[in-house]
Amino acid sequence: MSRVQIKNIKKSYGTVTALQDISLDIPSGSFFTLLGPSGCGKTTLLRTLAGFHQQDQGTLLVDGEPLDHIPVHKRNIGMVFQDYAIFPHLNVGKNVAFGLKQHRVPKQQARERIDNILRLVQLENLENRMPHELSGGQQQRVGLARALVTNPKVLLMDEPLSNLDAQLRIDLRRELRALQQSLGITTIYVTHDQEEALEMSDFVCVMHNGVIQQSDTPWAIYHQPANQFVASFVGSNNFLPVKVASGFLEFCGVVTDLEADYLAAVSSEGAVVSVRPERIRLELFDQPKESSATHLRFPVSVQYHSFAGRELRLSVQATDGTPVQIISEPKQAYVRLTEGDTVWVVIKKSDLSFFDRNNSGLRL
Ligand code: ATP
Repeated sequence: MSRVQIKNIKKSYGTVTALQDISLDIPSGSFFTLLGPSGCGKTTLLRTLAGFHQQDQGTLLVDGEPLDHIPVHKRNIGMVFQDYAIFPHLNVGKNVAFGLKQHRVPKQQARERIDNILRLVQLENLENRMPHELSGGQQQRVGLARALVTNPKVLLMDEPLSNLDAQLRIDLRRELRALQQSLGITTIYVTHDQEEALEMSDFVCVMHNGVIQQSDTPWAIYHQPANQFVASFVGSNNFLPVKVASGFLEFCGVVTDLEADYLAAVSSEGAVVSVRPERIRLELFDQPKESSATHLRFPVSVQYHSFAGRELRLSVQATDGTPVQIISEPKQAYVRLTEGDTVWVVIKKSDLSFFDRNNSGLRL
Protein backbone atom coordinates (compact mmCIF):
# COMPACT_ATOMS: atom_id res chain seq x y z
CA MET A 1 0.00 0.00 0.00
CA SER A 2 1.44 3.33 -1.02
CA ARG A 3 0.65 6.94 -0.36
CA VAL A 4 0.75 9.23 -3.41
CA GLN A 5 1.45 12.92 -3.01
CA ILE A 6 1.02 15.41 -5.81
CA LYS A 7 2.53 18.77 -4.97
CA ASN A 8 1.93 21.96 -6.93
CA ILE A 9 1.97 20.31 -10.35
CA LYS A 10 1.76 22.60 -13.36
CA LYS A 11 1.71 21.42 -16.94
CA SER A 12 1.19 23.30 -20.19
CA TYR A 13 1.17 22.23 -23.81
CA GLY A 14 2.40 25.35 -25.61
CA THR A 15 -0.14 28.02 -24.75
CA VAL A 16 -2.69 25.54 -23.28
CA THR A 17 -2.46 25.22 -19.51
CA ALA A 18 -3.62 21.67 -18.76
CA LEU A 19 -2.86 21.61 -15.02
CA GLN A 20 -2.72 24.68 -12.80
CA ASP A 21 -1.02 24.09 -9.47
CA ILE A 22 -2.52 20.69 -8.59
CA SER A 23 -1.91 19.35 -5.07
CA LEU A 24 -3.43 16.11 -3.76
CA ASP A 25 -2.62 13.69 -0.97
CA ILE A 26 -3.90 10.23 -1.88
CA PRO A 27 -4.04 7.84 1.09
CA SER A 28 -2.50 4.35 0.90
CA GLY A 29 -4.86 1.70 -0.38
CA SER A 30 -7.55 4.11 -1.46
CA PHE A 31 -9.57 4.17 -4.66
CA PHE A 32 -9.17 7.77 -5.76
CA THR A 33 -11.03 9.10 -8.80
CA LEU A 34 -10.30 12.12 -10.97
CA LEU A 35 -13.64 13.25 -12.35
CA GLY A 36 -14.36 16.05 -14.77
CA PRO A 37 -15.53 17.01 -18.24
CA SER A 38 -13.48 16.44 -21.36
CA GLY A 39 -10.35 18.60 -21.42
CA CYS A 40 -10.22 19.29 -17.67
CA GLY A 41 -6.76 17.74 -17.33
CA LYS A 42 -7.48 14.31 -15.84
CA THR A 43 -5.51 12.32 -18.39
CA THR A 44 -2.62 14.76 -18.28
CA LEU A 45 -2.36 14.32 -14.52
CA LEU A 46 -2.52 10.53 -14.79
CA ARG A 47 0.08 10.38 -17.55
CA THR A 48 2.35 12.74 -15.65
CA LEU A 49 2.17 10.37 -12.68
CA ALA A 50 2.97 7.42 -14.94
CA GLY A 51 5.95 9.31 -16.38
CA PHE A 52 4.68 9.71 -19.96
CA HIS A 53 4.68 13.49 -19.48
CA GLN A 54 7.10 15.65 -17.54
CA GLN A 55 5.51 18.35 -15.40
CA ASP A 56 6.69 21.96 -15.79
CA GLN A 57 6.67 22.51 -12.04
CA GLY A 58 5.98 20.66 -8.82
CA THR A 59 6.81 17.24 -7.50
CA LEU A 60 5.29 13.75 -7.30
CA LEU A 61 5.98 11.39 -4.42
CA VAL A 62 5.15 7.75 -3.76
CA ASP A 63 5.71 6.78 -0.13
CA GLY A 64 7.67 9.98 0.29
CA GLU A 65 10.10 9.15 -2.57
CA PRO A 66 10.19 11.67 -5.44
CA LEU A 67 9.27 10.17 -8.80
CA ASP A 68 10.18 13.14 -10.93
CA HIS A 69 13.41 11.85 -12.48
CA ILE A 70 12.50 8.17 -12.57
CA PRO A 71 11.70 6.86 -16.08
CA VAL A 72 8.34 5.25 -16.86
CA HIS A 73 9.49 1.62 -16.63
CA LYS A 74 11.15 2.12 -13.25
CA ARG A 75 8.29 3.92 -11.47
CA ASN A 76 6.63 0.67 -10.40
CA ILE A 77 3.25 2.02 -11.46
CA GLY A 78 0.74 -0.06 -13.43
CA MET A 79 -1.44 1.60 -16.02
CA VAL A 80 -4.66 0.47 -17.69
CA PHE A 81 -5.77 2.37 -20.78
CA GLN A 82 -9.18 3.16 -22.25
CA ASP A 83 -8.43 1.35 -25.54
CA TYR A 84 -6.88 -1.65 -23.67
CA ALA A 85 -3.49 -1.13 -25.42
CA ILE A 86 -2.80 -4.85 -25.61
CA PHE A 87 -0.55 -6.30 -28.32
CA PRO A 88 -2.73 -7.72 -31.13
CA HIS A 89 -0.07 -10.26 -32.22
CA LEU A 90 0.42 -11.79 -28.75
CA ASN A 91 -1.96 -14.17 -27.03
CA VAL A 92 -3.40 -13.44 -23.57
CA GLY A 93 -0.61 -15.20 -21.66
CA LYS A 94 2.15 -13.48 -23.65
CA ASN A 95 0.49 -10.09 -23.28
CA VAL A 96 0.43 -10.55 -19.52
CA ALA A 97 3.99 -11.91 -19.46
CA PHE A 98 5.31 -8.91 -21.35
CA GLY A 99 5.65 -6.68 -18.31
CA LEU A 100 7.48 -9.39 -16.40
CA LYS A 101 10.12 -9.81 -19.14
CA GLN A 102 11.02 -6.15 -18.78
CA HIS A 103 11.43 -6.69 -15.03
CA ARG A 104 13.60 -9.81 -15.60
CA VAL A 105 11.49 -11.99 -13.28
CA PRO A 106 12.81 -15.61 -13.16
CA LYS A 107 10.78 -18.08 -15.25
CA GLN A 108 9.25 -20.16 -12.45
CA GLN A 109 8.22 -17.08 -10.48
CA ALA A 110 6.82 -15.48 -13.65
CA ARG A 111 4.69 -18.60 -14.32
CA GLU A 112 3.20 -18.44 -10.82
CA ARG A 113 2.45 -14.75 -11.09
CA ILE A 114 0.79 -15.11 -14.50
CA ASP A 115 -1.38 -18.00 -13.23
CA ASN A 116 -2.38 -16.00 -10.15
CA ILE A 117 -3.22 -12.86 -12.01
CA LEU A 118 -5.17 -14.67 -14.75
CA ARG A 119 -7.22 -16.39 -12.04
CA LEU A 120 -7.79 -13.04 -10.32
CA VAL A 121 -9.21 -11.43 -13.47
CA GLN A 122 -11.07 -14.63 -14.44
CA LEU A 123 -9.13 -15.34 -17.63
CA GLU A 124 -7.48 -18.59 -16.53
CA ASN A 125 -9.07 -20.58 -19.36
CA LEU A 126 -8.28 -18.08 -22.07
CA GLU A 127 -4.51 -17.88 -21.84
CA ASN A 128 -3.94 -19.03 -25.43
CA ARG A 129 -6.59 -16.87 -27.06
CA MET A 130 -5.57 -14.02 -29.35
CA PRO A 131 -6.94 -10.52 -28.58
CA HIS A 132 -9.26 -10.54 -31.60
CA GLU A 133 -10.91 -13.67 -30.17
CA LEU A 134 -11.87 -11.82 -26.97
CA SER A 135 -14.81 -9.60 -26.06
CA GLY A 136 -14.20 -5.97 -25.06
CA GLY A 137 -14.60 -6.84 -21.39
CA GLN A 138 -12.12 -9.72 -21.71
CA GLN A 139 -9.62 -7.50 -23.50
CA GLN A 140 -9.84 -4.99 -20.69
CA ARG A 141 -9.20 -7.80 -18.18
CA VAL A 142 -6.01 -8.60 -20.12
CA GLY A 143 -5.01 -4.93 -19.83
CA LEU A 144 -5.68 -5.08 -16.10
CA ALA A 145 -3.77 -8.35 -15.66
CA ARG A 146 -0.79 -6.93 -17.51
CA ALA A 147 -0.79 -3.84 -15.29
CA LEU A 148 -1.06 -5.87 -12.07
CA VAL A 149 1.32 -8.74 -12.82
CA THR A 150 4.39 -6.70 -11.88
CA ASN A 151 2.96 -6.02 -8.38
CA PRO A 152 2.97 -2.24 -8.86
CA LYS A 153 2.78 0.11 -5.90
CA VAL A 154 0.11 2.19 -7.60
CA LEU A 155 -2.48 1.36 -10.26
CA LEU A 156 -3.58 4.06 -12.71
CA MET A 157 -6.67 3.57 -14.83
CA ASP A 158 -7.71 5.93 -17.62
CA GLU A 159 -11.42 5.50 -18.43
CA PRO A 160 -10.98 1.71 -18.56
CA LEU A 161 -14.69 0.95 -18.93
CA SER A 162 -15.75 3.58 -21.41
CA ASN A 163 -15.50 1.35 -24.51
CA LEU A 164 -17.79 -1.28 -23.01
CA ASP A 165 -21.56 -1.51 -23.21
CA ALA A 166 -23.72 -0.19 -20.37
CA GLN A 167 -24.51 -3.38 -18.47
CA LEU A 168 -20.96 -4.69 -18.67
CA ARG A 169 -19.68 -1.36 -17.34
CA ILE A 170 -21.90 -1.70 -14.30
CA ASP A 171 -20.81 -5.30 -13.65
CA LEU A 172 -17.15 -4.47 -14.13
CA ARG A 173 -17.36 -1.46 -11.78
CA ARG A 174 -18.19 -3.76 -8.91
CA GLU A 175 -15.61 -6.32 -9.97
CA LEU A 176 -12.84 -3.75 -10.28
CA ARG A 177 -13.68 -2.25 -6.92
CA ALA A 178 -13.73 -5.67 -5.25
CA LEU A 179 -10.39 -6.57 -6.84
CA GLN A 180 -8.84 -3.26 -5.76
CA GLN A 181 -10.04 -3.80 -2.20
CA SER A 182 -8.77 -7.37 -2.05
CA LEU A 183 -5.34 -6.29 -3.30
CA GLY A 184 -5.35 -3.10 -1.22
CA ILE A 185 -3.59 -1.32 -4.07
CA THR A 186 -3.69 2.48 -4.20
CA THR A 187 -5.66 3.20 -7.36
CA ILE A 188 -6.08 6.43 -9.27
CA TYR A 189 -8.96 6.22 -11.69
CA VAL A 190 -9.99 8.68 -14.39
CA THR A 191 -13.56 9.03 -15.58
CA HIS A 192 -16.05 11.60 -16.79
CA ASP A 193 -18.92 9.40 -15.58
CA GLN A 194 -20.11 10.80 -12.26
CA GLU A 195 -22.09 7.75 -11.26
CA GLU A 196 -19.07 5.52 -11.83
CA ALA A 197 -16.95 7.87 -9.73
CA LEU A 198 -19.42 8.01 -6.84
CA GLU A 199 -20.04 4.27 -6.85
CA MET A 200 -16.46 3.05 -6.98
CA SER A 201 -14.39 5.54 -5.05
CA ASP A 202 -13.20 6.26 -1.53
CA PHE A 203 -12.41 9.79 -2.69
CA VAL A 204 -13.37 11.84 -5.73
CA CYS A 205 -11.51 14.85 -7.04
CA VAL A 206 -13.62 17.01 -9.36
CA MET A 207 -11.53 18.97 -11.88
CA HIS A 208 -12.40 21.75 -14.30
CA ASN A 209 -10.07 23.71 -16.58
CA GLY A 210 -6.97 22.20 -14.97
CA VAL A 211 -8.05 23.26 -11.47
CA ILE A 212 -9.27 21.12 -8.57
CA GLN A 213 -12.82 22.13 -7.71
CA GLN A 214 -13.30 19.77 -4.78
CA SER A 215 -11.57 16.67 -3.46
CA ASP A 216 -13.61 14.74 -0.94
CA THR A 217 -15.65 11.63 -0.20
CA PRO A 218 -18.41 10.76 -2.71
CA TRP A 219 -20.99 11.70 -0.06
CA ALA A 220 -19.54 15.18 0.45
CA ILE A 221 -19.11 15.75 -3.30
CA TYR A 222 -22.78 14.96 -3.80
CA HIS A 223 -24.32 16.53 -0.72
CA GLN A 224 -21.89 19.32 0.15
CA PRO A 225 -20.65 20.63 -3.21
CA ALA A 226 -17.96 23.27 -2.80
CA ASN A 227 -19.17 25.38 -5.70
CA GLN A 228 -21.75 25.61 -8.45
CA PHE A 229 -19.61 23.70 -10.91
CA VAL A 230 -19.50 20.63 -8.64
CA ALA A 231 -23.19 20.99 -7.80
CA SER A 232 -24.12 21.00 -11.47
CA PHE A 233 -21.58 18.49 -12.82
CA VAL A 234 -22.35 15.77 -10.28
CA GLY A 235 -25.99 14.69 -10.39
CA SER A 236 -28.89 16.93 -11.26
CA ASN A 237 -29.78 19.97 -9.24
CA ASN A 238 -32.17 22.89 -8.99
CA PHE A 239 -30.50 26.29 -8.93
CA LEU A 240 -32.91 28.85 -7.54
CA PRO A 241 -32.15 32.59 -7.53
CA VAL A 242 -31.90 34.08 -4.02
CA LYS A 243 -32.68 37.63 -2.89
CA VAL A 244 -32.38 39.30 0.46
CA ALA A 245 -35.66 40.71 1.82
CA SER A 246 -35.62 42.68 5.08
CA GLY A 247 -32.67 40.76 6.34
CA PHE A 248 -33.96 37.30 5.37
CA LEU A 249 -33.33 35.08 2.37
CA GLU A 250 -36.05 34.93 -0.22
CA PHE A 251 -36.40 32.40 -3.00
CA CYS A 252 -39.29 30.78 -4.86
CA GLY A 253 -41.39 33.76 -3.81
CA VAL A 254 -41.01 32.84 -0.15
CA VAL A 255 -39.36 34.97 2.47
CA THR A 256 -37.72 32.34 4.65
CA ASP A 257 -36.57 32.57 8.23
CA LEU A 258 -33.02 31.92 7.08
CA GLU A 259 -30.62 34.51 8.37
CA ALA A 260 -27.12 33.51 9.24
CA ASP A 261 -23.49 34.42 8.86
CA TYR A 262 -23.63 33.78 5.13
CA LEU A 263 -26.32 36.44 4.66
CA ALA A 264 -23.84 39.14 3.80
CA ALA A 265 -22.23 36.97 1.15
CA VAL A 266 -25.46 36.11 -0.63
CA SER A 267 -26.75 39.64 -0.54
CA SER A 268 -24.75 40.24 -3.71
CA GLU A 269 -26.37 39.83 -7.11
CA GLY A 270 -26.25 36.40 -8.69
CA ALA A 271 -26.55 34.29 -5.54
CA VAL A 272 -28.37 30.97 -5.90
CA VAL A 273 -29.47 28.15 -3.68
CA SER A 274 -29.32 24.57 -4.91
CA VAL A 275 -31.40 21.59 -3.87
CA ARG A 276 -31.45 18.12 -5.41
CA PRO A 277 -34.74 17.13 -7.11
CA GLU A 278 -34.90 13.91 -5.11
CA ARG A 279 -34.50 15.77 -1.80
CA ILE A 280 -37.72 17.75 -2.30
CA ARG A 281 -40.76 16.15 -0.74
CA LEU A 282 -44.22 16.69 -2.02
CA GLU A 283 -47.24 17.05 0.26
CA LEU A 284 -50.89 17.46 -0.47
CA PHE A 285 -52.23 19.51 2.43
CA ASP A 286 -55.82 20.53 2.83
CA GLN A 287 -54.68 23.35 5.02
CA PRO A 288 -51.41 25.23 4.43
CA LYS A 289 -48.73 24.30 6.93
CA GLU A 290 -45.99 26.56 8.21
CA SER A 291 -42.29 26.07 7.75
CA SER A 292 -40.58 24.67 10.81
CA ALA A 293 -37.20 25.11 12.42
CA THR A 294 -35.80 22.37 10.20
CA HIS A 295 -37.97 22.39 7.07
CA LEU A 296 -39.22 24.94 4.56
CA ARG A 297 -42.70 24.52 3.18
CA PHE A 298 -44.17 26.49 0.34
CA PRO A 299 -46.85 26.13 -2.33
CA VAL A 300 -46.12 25.51 -6.00
CA SER A 301 -48.28 24.83 -9.00
CA VAL A 302 -47.91 21.66 -11.05
CA GLN A 303 -46.74 22.14 -14.65
CA TYR A 304 -46.43 18.53 -15.76
CA HIS A 305 -45.31 15.18 -14.46
CA SER A 306 -44.14 11.91 -15.91
CA PHE A 307 -44.45 8.52 -14.29
CA ALA A 308 -41.32 6.42 -14.79
CA GLY A 309 -42.24 3.32 -12.78
CA ARG A 310 -39.86 3.61 -9.86
CA GLU A 311 -40.17 7.39 -9.63
CA LEU A 312 -42.30 10.34 -10.59
CA ARG A 313 -40.72 13.39 -12.20
CA LEU A 314 -42.53 16.64 -11.68
CA SER A 315 -41.99 20.13 -13.00
CA VAL A 316 -43.60 22.72 -10.78
CA GLN A 317 -43.57 26.48 -10.62
CA ALA A 318 -43.14 28.55 -7.49
CA THR A 319 -45.41 31.57 -6.90
CA ASP A 320 -42.73 33.89 -8.32
CA GLY A 321 -42.47 31.77 -11.48
CA THR A 322 -39.23 29.95 -10.55
CA PRO A 323 -39.28 26.48 -12.13
CA VAL A 324 -38.45 23.60 -9.77
CA GLN A 325 -37.79 19.98 -10.71
CA ILE A 326 -38.82 17.23 -8.30
CA ILE A 327 -38.18 13.50 -8.30
CA SER A 328 -40.69 11.86 -6.02
CA GLU A 329 -41.85 8.43 -5.02
CA PRO A 330 -44.69 7.54 -7.40
CA LYS A 331 -47.71 7.78 -5.11
CA GLN A 332 -50.93 7.34 -7.00
CA ALA A 333 -52.31 10.60 -5.59
CA TYR A 334 -49.40 12.43 -7.24
CA VAL A 335 -49.94 10.71 -10.59
CA ARG A 336 -53.50 12.04 -10.56
CA LEU A 337 -52.34 15.65 -10.27
CA THR A 338 -53.11 17.86 -13.23
CA GLU A 339 -51.62 21.06 -14.57
CA GLY A 340 -52.33 24.05 -12.36
CA ASP A 341 -52.98 22.03 -9.17
CA THR A 342 -51.42 23.53 -6.08
CA VAL A 343 -49.21 21.25 -4.01
CA TRP A 344 -46.75 21.91 -1.21
CA VAL A 345 -43.08 21.22 -1.32
CA VAL A 346 -41.10 20.46 1.80
CA ILE A 347 -37.34 20.97 1.82
CA LYS A 348 -35.03 20.19 4.69
CA LYS A 349 -32.98 23.31 5.34
CA SER A 350 -29.81 21.26 5.65
CA ASP A 351 -30.31 20.05 2.06
CA LEU A 352 -29.80 23.57 0.72
CA SER A 353 -26.45 24.76 -0.61
CA PHE A 354 -25.96 28.48 -1.16
CA PHE A 355 -23.57 29.86 -3.72
CA ASP A 356 -22.59 33.49 -3.82
CA ARG A 357 -21.79 35.48 -6.92
CA ASN A 358 -18.21 34.23 -6.79
CA ASN A 359 -19.45 30.66 -7.03
CA SER A 360 -18.29 29.76 -3.52
CA GLY A 361 -20.47 27.36 -1.57
CA LEU A 362 -21.93 28.46 1.73
CA ARG A 363 -23.64 26.06 4.08
CA LEU A 364 -26.33 26.52 6.68
P1 ATP B 1 -10.67 13.76 -21.96
O1 ATP B 1 -11.71 13.30 -20.97
O2 ATP B 1 -11.28 14.30 -23.21
O3 ATP B 1 -9.61 12.75 -22.19
P2 ATP B 1 -9.02 15.17 -20.04
O4 ATP B 1 -9.75 15.74 -18.88
O5 ATP B 1 -8.33 13.90 -19.81
O6 ATP B 1 -9.98 15.06 -21.29
P3 ATP B 1 -6.52 16.19 -21.01
O7 ATP B 1 -6.41 15.18 -22.10
O8 ATP B 1 -5.62 16.05 -19.86
O9 ATP B 1 -8.01 16.32 -20.50
O10 ATP B 1 -6.31 17.63 -21.67
C1 ATP B 1 -6.23 18.82 -20.90
C2 ATP B 1 -6.03 20.01 -21.86
O11 ATP B 1 -4.76 19.89 -22.50
C3 ATP B 1 -7.06 20.08 -22.97
O12 ATP B 1 -7.32 21.43 -23.23
C4 ATP B 1 -6.35 19.43 -24.15
O13 ATP B 1 -6.83 19.92 -25.37
C5 ATP B 1 -4.89 19.82 -23.91
N1 ATP B 1 -3.95 18.79 -24.40
C6 ATP B 1 -3.87 17.52 -24.00
N2 ATP B 1 -2.85 16.87 -24.63
C7 ATP B 1 -2.29 17.79 -25.46
C8 ATP B 1 -1.18 17.75 -26.37
N3 ATP B 1 -0.45 16.65 -26.54
N4 ATP B 1 -0.90 18.89 -27.04
C9 ATP B 1 -1.61 20.01 -26.86
N5 ATP B 1 -2.65 20.12 -25.99
C10 ATP B 1 -2.99 19.02 -25.30
